[in-house]
Order: sequence, then structure tokens, then C-alpha cells
Amino acid sequence: MLRSLLIYLSQASWARQLVTRWEFARRAASRFIAGEELDDAIGVVKSLNRKNINATLDHLGEHTTNPEKARQATEDIIEILSRIEREGVRSNVSIKLTQIGLAVDEALCVENLQRILDTAVNLKTFVRIDMEDSQWVEKTLNIFHEAQDRCSCENVGIVIQSYLFRSEEDVARLLQTGSRIRLCKGAYKEPEEIAFPEKSDVDANFDLIVSQLLNGSSENSHPTISADGKIPPIPAIATHDEKRIVFTKKELEKSGYPKNAVEFQMLHGIRRDLQESLASEGYPVRVYVPYGSEWYPYFTRRLAERPANLWFFISNFFR
Ligand SMILES: Cc1cc2nc3c(=O)[nH]c(=O)nc-3n(C[C@H](O)[C@H](O)[C@H](O)COP(=O)(O)OP(=O)(O)OC[C@H]3O[C@@H](n4cnc5c(N)ncnc54)[C@H](O)[C@@H]3O)c2cc1C
Repeated sequence: MLRSLLIYLSQASWARQLVTRWEFARRAASRFIAGEELDDAIGVVKSLNRKNINATLDHLGEHTTNPEKARQATEDIIEILSRIEREGVRSNVSIKLTQIGLAVDEALCVENLQRILDTAVNLKTFVRIDMEDSQWVEKTLNIFHEAQDRCSCENVGIVIQSYLFRSEEDVARLLQTGSRIRLCKGAYKEPEEIAFPEKSDVDANFDLIVSQLLNGSSENSHPTISADGKIPPIPAIATHDEKRIVFTKKELEKSGYPKNAVEFQMLHGIRRDLQESLASEGYPVRVYVPYGSEWYPYFTRRLAERPANLWFFISNFFR
């Protein structure tokens, strides 16, 4: 109930206009957001790299409403790729297709994605396409398959959500071409006709897809993470759920593949202890580092994931 309300609020523009005016909300959001500027985010990436943790940078933005803004978002992403190269940091980039125009004009979105991927190919780096709510899943997968055909699996990857019934089939198709896949549980509110309503089923499907990814990785000679930390292996296991992480580690041990044939991914500001302990055990860890002024929907989804975060939010009001 509370989760549904918060997810509704994350998409409501009236709520965004209200909440982003509150200084205490901005203060609370700073737990999950690296800052407003690229400089702030690069600083966070450097401190992660010092702890042997890689990053993926996300310039926050989604549901862009006009072509000009979509082109500007594209320029900003290209600038991040170049900045990563100049700074020599161990990071790649995550983007959303609605950020670069999918909600405005599909052809424009494809054109913008192509420009971003041309840069990624030139710089020998990697761009991950985040998965948004279910109305975008089919289009996102189709655009991804076409884009991957034009460049390579080493330059572009995708995200799969274990709460969707369709995901096992989507993964089977993606593995045929050796696609790099980030597996997460899914952050939106989806109808029962297309997604598991029970958390236990979402978790069980997550484990099932972990095994599917490890098998698929082996069929593609289990590529390991690149030496510069930019190009990930096929399975990127994105969760803070220790049971899912333990399951993945056991499956990996059983298979006898090296530790760097998977990577674990977590969000900036969540379970830093776990990020560091996995890195110290020798597993590749990548942290998702969001930054920018469009923090409201991202932040509200983080509140929805964990009701205890609401108290943290409210306590910032009294500081
Ligand atoms: C790197 C990364 C990329 C992602 N990309 C996408 C994407 O493209 N599309 C998409 O739909 N979703 C994405 N997600 C979000 C994901 O779908 C989940 O909503 C989110 O990760 C919470 O689920 P969980 O796997 O951590 O498990 P849960 O069972 O929700 O949580 C397990 C434990 O993790 C901790 N935890 C989880 N969330 C929080 C939080 N917000 N605040 C504090 N503690 C928390 C708590 O200790 C909790 O008990 C991504 C997540 C990660 C880590």
C-alpha cells in the first residue's frame, strides 16, 4: 500500500514540484545522490575506485518531454563518457531511453542512442540501458537488440527485472547473442497480470535467472570483466539482498568459473558494508552513482523500496 503510494508519487509532477522546493528533502536525497554536478559524481567514483570498487554513472533524468531536452541529455551523456576517459576512472555509464527521447519520438531516441554508442565504441567503453516501467519494456528490448547488432555486446548492455513473468524468455533470447545483462528485482508497481505480486516469487525468479545467466555465460566462454573495469561480464547481479548474493556465490563456486565472470552491483548510499566486503573477497563490485538536479523520481523509488527510509526522510525535517 505504502509502496504503491510512493511509486505513484514518484511519477506525479505536482508532488515533484512541491517536494523539490523543500531544503530538507534535498538533504535527505543526498544520501542516495552523489551531488548536482558531474564533478561531484567523479569525486564519488574516485573514492569508490580507491576501495577497489567500479562505478556506473547516471545523469539523472527520465520521461523527457521535448526533442531539444532529449538532444541535450544525449550531449550530457557523451560528455560523461569523455570525462571518464580523461579522468582515467573505472566507470561506465547507465542511461534511460525515455531520457533521450523514447516518450517523444522513437526515431529520435534511436538516433540519440546511436550517437552515444558511436562514442562508446570509439572510447572502448560500455553503456547500460536501464529498464523502466512495463509500458517501455518491449520497445526498450527491441531498440537494444538493434543497437547491439550495430555495435557489439562489449559496448552496450541491458537490464532485466525478475518481477516480470516474461523475463526468463527475454533472458534466453538475449543470451543467444551474448548480451551483457544486469539482473534486478524491479523498482516499479506492475499489474498482477504481468508481474509476480509476492516478494517470495520475485526472489525465486531472481535465483532462477541467476542460474540461467551463469549457464549462458559459460556458453559464451564466460567473458570476465575488462582490466580497466569498464566492460562488465555477462551476469551483473544487482541487489542488496544477502540471500540472493549468497546464492550467486554458491552457484559460481559450483560452476568453477573465476570470480570475475560475474559482477555484483549496488546503489550509491545503500549497504556500503556489503559493497566493501564483497570487493575484499575478490568479487568485482560496481556501484550505481546517480547525480544531477532531476533527483526526485529516483529518490522516491528508493523510499518505496524500504519504508524505514521514510523515517530517515522525515527526520531530516527536524535537523
Ligand atoms: C545497480 C542497480 C541498478 C538497478 N537498475 C534498475 C533498473 O534499471 N530498473 C529497475 O526497475 N530497477 C533497478 N534497480 C532497483 C531494483 O530493481 C530494486 O528496486 C532495488 O535494488 C531493491 O531491491 P533489492 O534487490 O536490493 O532487494 P530487497 O529485497 O528490496 O532489499 C534487500 C535489502 O537491501 C536493502 N535495501 C534495498 N533497497 C533499499 C533502499 N532503497 N534503501 C535502503 N536499503 C535498501 C535492505 O537492507 C533490504 O532488506 C537497480 C538496482 C541496483 C542495485
